[in-house]
Amino acid sequence: MTSPVWHPFTQHGLAEEIPLVTHAEGAAIYTDDGRRFVDAISSWWVTTHGHCHPRIMAAIRAQTEKLDQLIFAGWTHEPAESLARDLITIAPEPLAHVFFSDSGSTSVEVALKMALGYWLNRGEPRHRIVVMAHSYHGDTIGAMSVGERGVYNRAYQPLLFDVDTLPFPAAGAEQTTLDALERLCRTEAPAALIVEPLILGAGGMQIYSAQTLAEMRRICTRHGVLFIADEVMTGWGRTGTLFACEAAGIVPDIMCLSKGLTGGAVPLAVTLATPAIFDAHRSTDRAAMFFHSSSYTANPIACAAANANLAIWRDEPVLDRVADLARRQADRLAALDHPAIVNRRQIGTIAAMEMIAGDSGYLSTIGPALGAFFRARGLLLRPMGNCIYIMPPYGIDDSDLDAIYAAIAAAAMEFGS
Ligand SMILES: *Cc1c(COP(=O)(O)O)cnc(C)c1O
Repeated sequence: MTSPVWHPFTQHGLAEEIPLVTHAEGAAIYTDDGRRFVDAISSWWVTTHGHCHPRIMAAIRAQTEKLDQLIFAGWTHEPAESLARDLITIAPEPLAHVFFSDSGSTSVEVALKMALGYWLNRGEPRHRIVVMAHSYHGDTIGAMSVGERGVYNRAYQPLLFDVDTLPFPAAGAEQTTLDALERLCRTEAPAALIVEPLILGAGGMQIYSAQTLAEMRRICTRHGVLFIADEVMTGWGRTGTLFACEAAGIVPDIMCLSKGLTGGAVPLAVTLATPAIFDAHRSTDRAAMFFHSSSYTANPIACAAANANLAIWRDEPVLDRVADLARRQADRLAALDHPAIVNRRQIGTIAAMEMIAGDSGYLSTIGPALGAFFRARGLLLRPMGNCIYIMPPYGIDDSDLDAIYAAIAAAAMEFGS
């Protein structure tokens, strides 16, 4: 019998296997037919410490005994209050306000709406958004509008709003990007710049320098343009620091967090904002309030999971684990020496490369063919076209890491040209 489930980013017209997973632990997931897979991409970049972390699972169980869900307009609860307090403690100053939502895409929508609300309430309406080429900020209409245009959003392009796009600051070409930003800030009076700090994720794991990120921040500050950091993927240690912006020594006006916020256990997102953004919406005029909500805003169970995640970050040497994983990935990446493997690169726990194997676009068959090759070897890897990347949970052990790199070497022999 065929399943009624419609999967994301899946072509159901192609007979590709969809494994049925029954349980997971650490870096491993297990299927109903008894197979074990190494989750080499942290279940789409969300699982930080490992699957079913006991402290996070226990916190969820405990919260289910007390409060499941509560309207968050005009009401509050302790899991959200303590999470917001603790987030403000670990986030760089002056980020001091926390708006809850449910997914990375929504946290981006919230960020864009905050930016436009800020300008309108200041009596100086602005609506242009500056973005970076090849960015990804989510799949809702607003998030797609500030992301790269391509086959994956072709059907919706007539509805996407117009943005100003900076070229990607590739090594050696950073000044072109900075000059373009400077020019746009002068001529367009944009409301905000939104960027993925240090690495474009879905845009192909493209890395740029912390220095460029810092310089973009300085240009925005100079022109009063709001700086939005989409740390949905980079946050929670992925790039080597708790937040990627730290590596550049910068603080955004607005910061989006999701994916690893609950350790990857349940959906939750936050958009952090400075007092300037918050105060622009604070008034005795109801028309100036921030008009956004979702039914499950700050769901108590999700907040409890996030509180447990923050406690793990406080009590355990997570950044040491991140540094250790980065080192273990670096050794294996360096050893992956094959003429079909090019552009080997790494930032923190994320390693990536391209495989030279004929046609390589997102829709080429090489991505799914590689995915199937890895799956047959007990690995969950999901190449984007011919870009293979490894983004494991921090607790992955050496033998699982070895299996990943051995399979990539084997794939280079099999597919490489
Ligand atoms: C995954 C991602 C998003 C979207 O998050 P969802 O939870 O999938 O909606 C937004 N921005 C970045 C940088 C991401 O990697």
